Amino acid sequence: APARIAVTGLAVMGSNLARNLARHGFRVAVHNRSSARTRALVEEHGHEGDFVPAETLEELVASLQTPRQIIIMVKAGAPTDAVIDDLVPLLEAGDMVIDGGNAHYADTRRREAALREAGLHFVGTGISGGEEGALNGPSIMPGGSAESYAHLGPVLEAISAKVDGVPCCVHVGPDGAGHFVKMVHNGIEYADMQLIAEAYDLLHRVGGQTPAQIAEVFRGWNSGDLESYLVEITAEVLGHTDPETGAALVDVIADEAEQKGTGRWTVQEALELGVPVTGIAEAVFARSLSGRVDQRTAVRAALGASEVTPAPDDSLVEDVRQALYASKVVAYAQGFDQMRAAGAEYGWDLDLGAMATIWRGGCIIRARFLDRIREAYDKDGDLASLLVDDYFRDAVANAEAAWRRVVVKAVAAGVPAPGFVSALAYYDGLRSERLPASLIQGLRDFFGAHTYRRTDRPGSFHTRWSGDRSQVDA
Ligand code: NDP
Repeated sequence: APARIAVTGLAVMGSNLARNLARHGFRVAVHNRSSARTRALVEEHGHEGDFVPAETLEELVASLQTPRQIIIMVKAGAPTDAVIDDLVPLLEAGDMVIDGGNAHYADTRRREAALREAGLHFVGTGISGGEEGALNGPSIMPGGSAESYAHLGPVLEAISAKVDGVPCCVHVGPDGAGHFVKMVHNGIEYADMQLIAEAYDLLHRVGGQTPAQIAEVFRGWNSGDLESYLVEITAEVLGHTDPETGAALVDVIADEAEQKGTGRWTVQEALELGVPVTGIAEAVFARSLSGRVDQRTAVRAALGASEVTPAPDDSLVEDVRQALYASKVVAYAQGFDQMRAAGAEYGWDLDLGAMATIWRGGCIIRARFLDRIREAYDKDGDLASLLVDDYFRDAVANAEAAWRRVVVKAVAAGVPAPGFVSALAYYDGLRSERLPASLIQGLRDFFGAHTYRRTDRPGSFHTRWSGDRSQVDA
């Protein structure tokens, strides 16, 4: 019998996805550029389901039912284009090429347009959850045509994570929508991790707690509003002892955060769209700062290392919990704003509640909290901000005093908390009756005759700054 679907690219992600498909009863054709990986997969896991190994792409294509569905799981970038170029001449109108790699959404838009021209469907698909998710149920964010989803949806929904019986997979929207949403998911993941790291740092340096004690704090937090995969694994990492030294592992790990680029992409796109995603940007820059080891060393040598004297108080732990929660609401509000703006820009008509739904399971940012986001957008799909939803408005208002105390304590102690601080500045910025942008407009008009608008009547105006300082209509 012909295979239902194919996977080409059998490194860790592709082979786990193929096994997931096979375990769900789909006859799956498998191929890899170097066929050793194909053979290894079938030898080690052939008993898990119905695999059809192929030595060449021609064989792979020939083994499939029509319209064909081929998932590409190779290195993102040029390798993906190379595989598409090899594949397209072998396909027929109506066939579907699914890119499950971490592609940039602009590449996906380009590839989708090219394949559509050739009568093919290109389905750029965000897949989150790492290798474990790929095997046991990822969160899946497919873009592309509605027609392709009619064929693919049942397969992808079957292998996705489920929460309360609901698949963590939905048709996101046309062309690059799926990869865009996956990118923002990763950006939010950066922000979430930065906020968790700041909470740890404050409890450690201001609170004077050991990593093992902080692990217990996070374990407790994980049974409340903050319940999430990242908070859960924070307790695991902080509680782990280095077997070589007997010290807490977190004290032995070099403090240089690396990044593969999706956080940076999110911020770059937010800059293009004019959406302030300060939480994600601070997280990306905090990683960059940590990685500038030579500069950090030079500055410490010149200025002396900052000294933080622990100043624990009874409310610190609870205050930090509240600050973490409020800052997290802000980070998600910003990420969802970015998706809304991109949807408007590219005509995607994104259902933001559905995005929250499919992130509840399978992916790294899975959290109880996403149920509340889903409810917020289900009630009102056009929310001006997540912050105005009744639930989040009250939650942040309740946390506000503690949040301000934490920011004050961090600043006073000299512990950097860019995530907490900038989230609060964003919250205050959105709520200010008047912003000093009026002065900025005045300055721009002074040096560049860029004009300004007035609060009391329509029109554009310019002040003759270097002349008699009279105002003229611009
Ligand atoms: P890699 O990104 O390490 O890519 C290795 C695979 O790409 C191998 O199968 C390799 O074939 C193939 N490949 C590389 N260059 C070419 C080429 N020019 N032509 C054909 N095949 C090529 O594999 P991963 O499994 O880690 O990731 C696969 C995709 O999934 C990537 O796009 C990655 O970004 C994404 N990913 C997603 C994650 C997630 O959580 N969603 C996590 C990790 C990855 P060969 O064996 O012959 O060298």
